[in-house]
Amino acid sequence: MKLAPAVLLSLAVSSPALAAGQLPRDVVPVLYDISVRPDAAAMTFAGEETVSVDVVKPTRTIVLNAADLKITRATFDGRAVPVKLDAAAQTLTLTLPRAASVGRHSVGFAWTGAINKSAAGLFAIDYAGADGKQQRMLATQFEAPDARRFAPMWDEPAFKARFRLSSTAPAGQRAVSNMPATSVTNMGGQQLYRFGETPVMSSYLLFLGMGDLDRKTAKAAGVEIGIVSRRGVVDQGDYVLGAAKRLLPYYNSYFGQPFPLPKMDMIAGPGSSQFFGAMENWGAIFYFEPELLFDPARTTASAKQRIHVVVAHEMAHQWFGDLVTMKWWDDLWLNEGFASWMESKAGADLNPEWEVRAGVIAGDREVAMGLDASSGTHPIIRQVENVDQISEAFDGITYSKGQAVIGMLEATLGADKFRDGIRRYMAKYKYGNTVTDQLWAELSAASGQDVRTIARDFTLQGGVPLVTMTGSTCRNGVTTVSLTQGRFGLDTASKAPQTWHVPLSVATVGGGDTDTLVTGTAATPVTVKGCGAVVLNHGKASYARMLYDEAGHAALVRDYPKLTLEDRVGTLGDDYALASGGYQDLSRYFAVQARVGATANPLEWSTVTGKLASLNARYAGTPLEAPLRARTVAILSPVLARVGIDAKPGESALTSNLREDLVGLLGASGDQALAAQARGYVAKLRTDPTAIPPAIRQPILSTYAANATPAEWDQLLALAKAEPSPVAKNRLVSLLGAARDEAVAKRALALLGTDTLSDPQKAALLRSVSNAHPELALDWAIANRKLVEGFIEESSRAGFIIGLARGSNDAATLPKLRALSTASSKAAVDRTIAGINVRRSAAERLRPAVEAWVRG
Ligand SMILES: [Zn+2]
Repeated sequence: MKLAPAVLLSLAVSSPALAAGQLPRDVVPVLYDISVRPDAAAMTFAGEETVSVDVVKPTRTIVLNAADLKITRATFDGRAVPVKLDAAAQTLTLTLPRAASVGRHSVGFAWTGAINKSAAGLFAIDYAGADGKQQRMLATQFEAPDARRFAPMWDEPAFKARFRLSSTAPAGQRAVSNMPATSVTNMGGQQLYRFGETPVMSSYLLFLGMGDLDRKTAKAAGVEIGIVSRRGVVDQGDYVLGAAKRLLPYYNSYFGQPFPLPKMDMIAGPGSSQFFGAMENWGAIFYFEPELLFDPARTTASAKQRIHVVVAHEMAHQWFGDLVTMKWWDDLWLNEGFASWMESKAGADLNPEWEVRAGVIAGDREVAMGLDASSGTHPIIRQVENVDQISEAFDGITYSKGQAVIGMLEATLGADKFRDGIRRYMAKYKYGNTVTDQLWAELSAASGQDVRTIARDFTLQGGVPLVTMTGSTCRNGVTTVSLTQGRFGLDTASKAPQTWHVPLSVATVGGGDTDTLVTGTAATPVTVKGCGAVVLNHGKASYARMLYDEAGHAALVRDYPKLTLEDRVGTLGDDYALASGGYQDLSRYFAVQARVGATANPLEWSTVTGKLASLNARYAGTPLEAPLRARTVAILSPVLARVGIDAKPGESALTSNLREDLVGLLGASGDQALAAQARGYVAKLRTDPTAIPPAIRQPILSTYAANATPAEWDQLLALAKAEPSPVAKNRLVSLLGAARDEAVAKRALALLGTDTLSDPQKAALLRSVSNAHPELALDWAIANRKLVEGFIEESSRAGFIIGLARGSNDAATLPKLRALSTASSKAAVDRTIAGINVRRSAAERLRPAVEAWVRG
């Protein structure tokens, strides 16, 4: 699963307590034969199934999962048996007249269930079709524990079985599942789709979708790749079709196992979720439209890169997750950390011009280290005992720290040996389930290195190592330094002493490099060829912060332009974070930033733009706000002047990204010239919907929205209402919450009480208001709690309102958050409060350096 970006930036929040425990193992499913009859208009469906099961141990009771299903018939070997539902545990129990004998038997059910409005189980997506007529698409979303809302199942990843699915669909519609349809039979106003039998797989990977859909295909390595979309936009899948044709053979080769299904559909749903963007159902990957469809007339270069990231992630899951699956959810990171790492590896290998590795160092790695350096963090691997805790496993630590740790191990073992280990693991465990230690064993066997010692340090304990360099001396062309380790933290709790085995590459600029392992608390001496500046964590592949002594840092600043791009953006990140944590003065960061010159890589300027945006957010509403903004504009305006507001033919994707970043920040910082330009563009939209060039469409609209007057906000609302594309409409709806003017933001909140917007749009709009006005959004949500809970998905409900306060700098927010603390939301409240306290204390700490800097 690919999380929604906002979720990835956070630590997990728990959802309401649902069910506990795991199912008994004495009866296991072998083959499900499921048929369903959805009634989309009535938002209900009926189902029947026969499950071939193996009884492993004689038993009189059979326990499996079901949630929100009304069971109308239950049989064992064809005979009716009594059934008991436990709503809290989400189980149903069959009681047999006498103990079932060991061997093959069959269990049968008939039931009715509900079609949901948000993405859990079988759900509906409503949208306006190309002809303006209202359309309803159906799709399923089962990860983590929602297959049980579709059919009674052994709904745990270790119960792998084969599935034979059939479904009715209205005449004229297309239905899609994991396997191709083997027959489609007309039955009056309905069609009956029978799909081929799947290989053994976990229940959470089953998929069914249907609607007024187009499909377009291409072939790669003998597999049919399909783009499935609402009618009229399937050509917007061309970019992904091309990308997937390259990714499939790339993965076939990397994993050493050919993709095992005859087809791989990628289905675009014209909706959204607060929680996720895409889901790796085997052979039938589901995406919300912005993550899959690329409209060259309206979408920016960064959106194309995001699509590649998401598609590469979901396709990697077809092996890592679908072919080999974690045994239980406590090893979810095996799925998600690996797919997140693979999305960047494949992205880098297939699109070298995107500088993906450096982008990850400036992006995901910083996100992970930020989350991991506060008291709310947790180890990558942690105990998951019940459904409640399953959804908690999907967070920035599982994904982004998982990604960074896998990347560190690849760099430590070497890319080829690492890949050989992955191939061994795939060959050994295909169609099966694993625990993390089984991956370490195969990597160790392939590389001849002890992977476990390093890997366990980084997966079984939370926190970020800090490596400190002292005493650099150079004699006879060889530099000697002394390295010690501690722990990098942004608050007191996250600074509690801890050690790791930190693999580290140490280099000198213009000299050599050497690999070392920093362990324990004693100093590690390291020698490396050359007398240039010492670069710790050369390549920035290791998951740790690097702190230099005075002379070492001065040398780094001096030689900065000679560093690799990864080391340049990584140093900017380290120096900013080390100042935030109180390990050094922010002036060190400013000294490095001052070395980012006119000819720097656009990614460096994007990194600087991000840091300055974060600094501006820290002092919003304080006396430093105006001078800081002025200094920011003074530094970045010339960069935008060089890049130009209009895209140049043949410019790099990174330049296009930088323009977006610059316009985004400068536009939101009240740059009046830019605001006027944005007004001019939007005025033209009334007569020409393509008046804004795609490369700047989104940031220009953001600038307009950030500076909107009440009359301009009305104009934006009119644009949103008139927009025919569901994706573009959703973007405009979110922008309705982006105004800096509080009175305008209140208009957006007032819209939430009307029926102008869909439930997912309301959630997105409220979250958008919270970006510029966290306190206002929080207060409004508390006052309108019932209304808010009505439009939030159940899986996000416990944390959503709390999360609105995430950007707050105001101490008055803390008691309001504490008042929201319940048994299931306490962890989320504590983490949000910890985050706010970290920001507040960092703002205090950095203030003198910022004051000095704005004075120039
Ligand atoms: Zn995933």
